[in-house]
Amino acid sequence: MKKTAIALLALLASGASLAATPWQKISQPIAGSAQSIGAFSNGCIVGAHALPIQSDDYQVMRTDQRRYFGHPDLIAFIQRLSGQVHNHGLGTLLIGDMGMPAGGRFNGGHASHQTGLDVDIFLQLPKARWTSAQLLKPQALDLVAADGKHVVPSLWSPQITSLIKLAAQDDDVTRIFVNPAIKQQLCLDAGTDRDWLHKVRPWFQHRAHMHVRLRCPAGSLECEEQAPPPPGDGCGAELQSWFEPPKPGSTKPEKKTPPPLPPSCQALLDEHAL
Ligand SMILES: [Zn+2]
Repeated sequence: MKKTAIALLALLASGASLAATPWQKISQPIAGSAQSIGAFSNGCIVGAHALPIQSDDYQVMRTDQRRYFGHPDLIAFIQRLSGQVHNHGLGTLLIGDMGMPAGGRFNGGHASHQTGLDVDIFLQLPKARWTSAQLLKPQALDLVAADGKHVVPSLWSPQITSLIKLAAQDDDVTRIFVNPAIKQQLCLDAGTDRDWLHKVRPWFQHRAHMHVRLRCPAGSLECEEQAPPPPGDGCGAELQSWFEPPKPGSTKPEKKTPPPLPPSCQALLDEHAL
């Protein structure tokens, strides 16, 4: 087994062993008109919808985790994108984590995905549909070479660029996170049409999937928007800084204790997570 595959497995295992969060006790969406509340990494959602599991255009992975809930805008986005991908003959979209029924913090894996506006989508587009066994234990395809600076040429394809570009051109999308090596490849592939690269942000990991984030929905008055990404295609000095060795004395940011929940989310927990 390749070293990268082992590292991925270790990461998955460490995520699974973390303590449960109170949000996991809420097994159904909170009734009400859809409201994303708080920040992407500290929030919740009322009136979430489940992504329909059956579709000709996409398949949902790890349904046993019940992380396929989100704001109706997110459901609509996934249906829109997968329809475009299907119409372009690119293959079937593989949908990973969205949010839990009431949003909130997962027990491991990622800090965001809390307001029903984030979705992880695999960067592979199978032509044949996956079996239910494959969907329950998805095989992540590590697209980044061992040096961390390039994609693996044999695994990369123009279809992946097309997929990310289609997602980035969606008006509801504000950010897409991918590994710096993947962003670098997109910068090379983009040619003269480069506006969409603005939303594609380099981030740690994200070697096998992209993380797509939507804007705060109209009517979600307690939803906290992020500042837009810096101007430009993001292919210059900022991207290069990801490939340089850390400066002496600089360390990884320490894990912060989570800030207090927005009052509306705390009230929801107090009422429903018994
Ligand atoms: Zn994600």
